[in-house]
Amino acid sequence: MNDSLQRFLFEGAPVRGEVAHLDATWRAVLERHEYPPVLRVILGELMAAGALLAATLKFEGSTILQLQGNGPVKLIVVECTSEQTLRATAKWDGELDSDATFDALLGANGRFAITLVPGDGKQSYQGIVAIDPSGVAASLEHYMQTSEQLDTRLWLAADDERAAGLLLQKLPAQDEPDEDGWNRATTLAETLTAPELLSLPVRKLLHRLYHQEDLRLFEPRPVSFRCSCSSDRVGAMLRMLGHAEVRSILEERDTVEVTCEFCNREYRYDSVDAELLFAAAHPAQAPATRQ
Ligand SMILES: [Zn+2]
Repeated sequence: MNDSLQRFLFEGAPVRGEVAHLDATWRAVLERHEYPPVLRVILGELMAAGALLAATLKFEGSTILQLQGNGPVKLIVVECTSEQTLRATAKWDGELDSDATFDALLGANGRFAITLVPGDGKQSYQGIVAIDPSGVAASLEHYMQTSEQLDTRLWLAADDERAAGLLLQKLPAQDEPDEDGWNRATTLAETLTAPELLSLPVRKLLHRLYHQEDLRLFEPRPVSFRCSCSSDRVGAMLRMLGHAEVRSILEERDTVEVTCEFCNREYRYDSVDAELLFAAAHPAQAPATRQ
């Protein structure tokens, strides 16, 4: 239960929900970088939100949530795959005021984008999220309302140990809609505290909120940290940088070093590796002779 996504349905009302608990998954992110406390909360919330969104959109591939700021926080990225693996990172400048609000951290021209990258290499799709100054949850609620045309509510929390989230979504009404079901579900969820969301096991959490409702619980699905970086991807990036650029870096120092911002893994290329990399990019010179 410690790293899981748990789906549930109200049997008597057109409401579905999902609870995300990130434990080791979240700590794997915290172990790799020392984030200021105020940024840690946003990053953890965005990670829980990413897991919930990926589960709700049921998209085959990667769902990338990216906040770009021009305030003290420059970038926050969370990626969640359809296999429920997550990675996350953030960039910021200087000291962050621990009382700073979400929109103050991002600055006046913050940008929030959600990119869906299909696993089959097809064209990715990007949607822009209007930033709500109150935070990640409210911003994503607007996004889901606009993109999915479904009322969606999110409750998110993060501390040094865990990140967690609850998502409720109003489904299109069935034959005998329980008109009040959505209101009951969201009103009760409003009473949930951040410590409860973070620490209560899913069944206890749902019992605490909805013991008077008839709920159907699905099998929990495991969530884990995994970084998708690889020497192939770093190689492709260096090839995009160009042979001349890589050569000029190698003239100044012995190796080109690329560190993955998500997992801190280091990739090193010396001049022999680099020549091999560019030789591999043009395995045969055939295209040049084919006019
Ligand atoms: Zn990595």
